[in-house]
Amino acid sequence: ESSAAGRVAAAAIAAIRDLIDREVDELGRLDAIAGDGDHGIGMQRGARAAADAADAAVAQEAGAGTVLALAGDAWADRAGGTSGALWGAGLRAVGDTVGDEEAPDALTVATGVDAARDAVQSFGKAVVGDKTLVDALVPFTEVLLARVGDGVPLATAWADAAAVATAAARATADLLPRMGRARPHMEKSLGTPDPGAISLALSMTEVAGVLAR
Ligand code: ADP
Ligand code: MG
Ligand code: MG
Repeated sequence: ESSAAGRVAAAAIAAIRDLIDREVDELGRLDAIAGDGDHGIGMQRGARAAADAADAAVAQEAGAGTVLALAGDAWADRAGGTSGALWGAGLRAVGDTVGDEEAPDALTVATGVDAARDAVQSFGKAVVGDKTLVDALVPFTEVLLARVGDGVPLATAWADAAAVATAAARATADLLPRMGRARPHMEKSLGTPDPGAISLALSMTEVAGVLAR
């Protein structure tokens, strides 16, 4: 018996892969302004490896938790770079929290996203305002938990959270970096949004589309 939730999870990872394939040059351009220019290719390597791992897990009839955890491990292994380690740890944490139950409810999914946020912040030590992907992930998680707590269906709650994360990612343009490779290039970074925050917000927006299907 194949798992419907496992297939949704793999479709979400595939949608992120396709998005990154479209955005690879733009993400590299953003990272080149104050970083080392490899955010596009790093995300592309990670997302492609994650999607392959997710498809292999679905072929074995894995549930959503196993699909996401194995996708995260593949992402961390293959992406290289800071963002790859963080995406890998985040996906692994969502997977471990959601587990392989047949139909995880919205609160379970939102709790899994909060576990990912916790893993990312434990691993990278960034807080809101440091001009990293945490600036998109924290408001995304807060809005998702709040909307799901209000009883809003998951797809709607996710879309609302993605819209807030998109605004937050754009707003990082006004911040000076305090973490990562952009930190030594503070003044060059001003006026440009953080590439990791942008790719995270774009990815969450893409997943909203999968959940609305
Ligand atoms: P690298 O910086 O190793 O070249 P990438 O270019 O793929 O890796 O990713 C850069 C992004 O990683 C940054 O835009 C930022 O969002 C994120 N990042 C860097 N350091 C941290 C950190 N300590 N915590 C959270 N995110 C971070
Ligand atoms: Mg880089
Ligand atoms: Mg690099």
